[in-house]
Amino acid sequence: MTKQSKPHVLIVGGGIMGTASALELARQGAVVTVLEKALPGAEASSAAAGIVGAEIENEAEGPMRDLCRKSQALYPAWVRSVEKASGVQVGFAADGALELAPNPSDMARLKRRRQGQLREGRAQVLGRRELSKLEPSLAGDLAGAIYFPTDCRIVPPALFRAVHLAALAHGVEFRTGKSAVKLLTTTTKKGESRALGIELDDGSTALADVTVVAAGSWTTLLPGLPLARSAIVPARGQLVELDLGAPRLGRLAFGHGVYLIPRADGRVLVGSTLEFVGYRKAVTASGLHHLLGAAIRIVPELAQAEVTSSWSNFRPYTQDEMPLLGSVGMPNLIVASGHHRNGILLAPVTARIVSALVLGKRPPVPLSAFDPERRHAH
Ligand SMILES: Cc1cc2nc3c(=O)[nH]c(=O)nc-3n(C[C@H](O)[C@H](O)[C@H](O)COP(=O)(O)OP(=O)(O)OC[C@H]3O[C@@H](n4cnc5c(N)ncnc54)[C@H](O)[C@@H]3O)c2cc1C
Repeated sequence: MTKQSKPHVLIVGGGIMGTASALELARQGAVVTVLEKALPGAEASSAAAGIVGAEIENEAEGPMRDLCRKSQALYPAWVRSVEKASGVQVGFAADGALELAPNPSDMARLKRRRQGQLREGRAQVLGRRELSKLEPSLAGDLAGAIYFPTDCRIVPPALFRAVHLAALAHGVEFRTGKSAVKLLTTTTKKGESRALGIELDDGSTALADVTVVAAGSWTTLLPGLPLARSAIVPARGQLVELDLGAPRLGRLAFGHGVYLIPRADGRVLVGSTLEFVGYRKAVTASGLHHLLGAAIRIVPELAQAEVTSSWSNFRPYTQDEMPLLGSVGMPNLIVASGHHRNGILLAPVTARIVSALVLGKRPPVPLSAFDPERRHAH
């Protein structure tokens, strides 16, 4: 691709991965078409909670934490640029995240598990009194918390809208209501496989120099894609939104197997279940029971909050819980998917990676751990 000044790139999937990658590629001068079977942002990318939490999400060091930290570091400038290009405010708040300890033995366990981050200064221990001073709405019987001051949050539907509008403003074409039904390939005279583009459900074809598959939980269903179907499977998550009328909780809090995300207007999102039930969208009684029970234990006054909404969607899950980023089977076929529970966090770095791969530039991080064909991905 290096010799072409304006490569034509076809992206399958108009979620945050496809759209953020399209925007970055268009900014770098590529001609980009996104194929989306429903509406852009219709699936996980608008359903997400909005945790941008490299620290709370990764207690262990390794390539995944490095990737998350890199992406989080890109967030403030990325948010500024999409807000400017779109005129949409995305609710970015860099006010940290709390991992709550219900009792002293949990506190001791958290300190052990987080000792590396505590040593690095990326986490702090809060005792019972400091915690209730910081967050007076939390239950008084909590033993304390680990605080991750650099973690952030965002409002995913607003973020998606901003990235989508920015991509449109940069000339990205979105073909919506178009399902990709087959990857088209050829073999060169030298015996090398090349991707040609995509066959659509109306029988037409879309051809390109490079094809990127970023179809979230549906990625490995694309016929012709040389990846095992099991490399990415849907992991359902249910969320419920409560409204307290006025903001009470100041920051993101994890505890009792759930997380609470406050919004600026007094709403609080409670998430999330993790279920392997195929592609069945549903909010279930047991899902709500679990989420609401834990939420009320964390912030007792949530018992009086109005339930304003609930929904479910699918995280693109991989067995080692790391994304698939790179070419598969042929040099001009790229996969950017499998971001599981961290796709919102990982959007800016993924966009940079995809554009570097397409344009033959050096990716911002080493990619070997994320090779889509790695054995443990299947
Ligand atoms: C309940 C829940 C909470 C979450 N919370 C967080 C969070 O707080 N922080 C975080 O970082 N991440 C979170 N995530 C994860 C995050 O939402 C995902 O990792 C991310 O949105 C995946 O983006 P994507 O673009 O790969 O997938 P999607 O947003 O699912 O987009 C894929 C798109 O591809 C389209 N498509 C599929 N097949 C085809 C085809 N054949 N032809 C054309 N189009 C096709 C689909 O219609 C869809 O629009 C959460 C996920 C869930 C479900």
